[in-house]
Amino acid sequence: MLSTMTAKPVDATNRARIAGLGARVLGGGAIVRDEALWLFHLEDSADVFDLLSWANRIREHFKGNKIHLCSIVNAKAGACSENCSFCAQSSFYQTGSPKYGFVDPEPVQEAAAEANQNGVTAVGLVAAWKGLNEGPMLDEVCERVRELKAGGKTRPDVSLGIIKSQRVADRLKEAGVECYGHNLESSRRFFPQTCTTHTYDDRLETIGHLKKAGIKICSGGIIGMGETREDRCDLAFALKEIGANVVPVNILNPIPGTPFEKNPPLSVLEILKTIACFRFILPRQEIMIAGGRTVNLRDAQSMIFMAGASALMVGNYLTTLNQPVEKDLQMLKDLGLDPSWDKHGFSDQEETGCGCGNGNCETSS
Ligand code: SF4
Repeated sequence: MLSTMTAKPVDATNRARIAGLGARVLGGGAIVRDEALWLFHLEDSADVFDLLSWANRIREHFKGNKIHLCSIVNAKAGACSENCSFCAQSSFYQTGSPKYGFVDPEPVQEAAAEANQNGVTAVGLVAAWKGLNEGPMLDEVCERVRELKAGGKTRPDVSLGIIKSQRVADRLKEAGVECYGHNLESSRRFFPQTCTTHTYDDRLETIGHLKKAGIKICSGGIIGMGETREDRCDLAFALKEIGANVVPVNILNPIPGTPFEKNPPLSVLEILKTIACFRFILPRQEIMIAGGRTVNLRDAQSMIFMAGASALMVGNYLTTLNQPVEKDLQMLKDLGLDPSWDKHGFSDQEETGCGCGNGNCETSS
């Protein structure tokens, strides 16, 4: 019986071009938007696997086998005044998501102890509200941060929405916040389709205050919301421009009751390719795979590291479940990856040389 299988010709020039770009990034250089867009548009699975392999090399080169683990505590749940189209906690949508006020000290300490036991570097307090102003709530937030820091078990991070005043950012820094989570969510072009109750510029302004206060930036976005590959590419370059230290890549987990509830899922290869493109654009950053990992990647979860991810959100997400931490730790062990990340260092993100992004630059010192 004759086989019906036919060999598929693979374009060897693509392989050489991917390798050329990969070698440039490995050498300390940068790729430009047109080159990145070409990578985002790769379709052939053979090309995508070449891309993953280079992204893996870049991760290994800049990050070794260290994997940065974070977990989060939902510090104030539901009834949020904002209308983010992907979010179960917005008061605009009927999602059945829990609602409660600002968290007491005990659950935060419990989360810190559990995180420490699992080798998790940071615990982030995440609040579902528009943002934070000066007043009693800021006092309470600072108190929780001080308690977390005094416990000494994990790095105290927060994600508290929009900050309009430098004083608020400064007070968070004084209380001990080291890293603040504030996603750009998507490109500037696509952002208005995700939210209309605040703007992309509100988010950039917040990040500006945080950086001025000396707080590290954890900022990324969500893919699978209906954005184009150009939007994903523009998001990655925007994150490079703001100097994000940690870049969470969330994959939409469509929540019933939200405007995005019927969004079709991205293919696994499209997700992995996006992570790899982010690694090419952001070679030194912690690229963290966060919400939507389990539901979208299923058995392919371990491939995120080959795609260039160097960080992982473990434990449950804000309103959805993740696979158990033990399973994630086993996955890392099986791959020879080490979650004992330097608790306070982002020094591997510092560029040497003149900073022009060209590894062969004559002016590099
Ligand atoms: S993403 Fe944040 S700001 Fe937007 S609705 Fe959800 S909790 Fe509110």
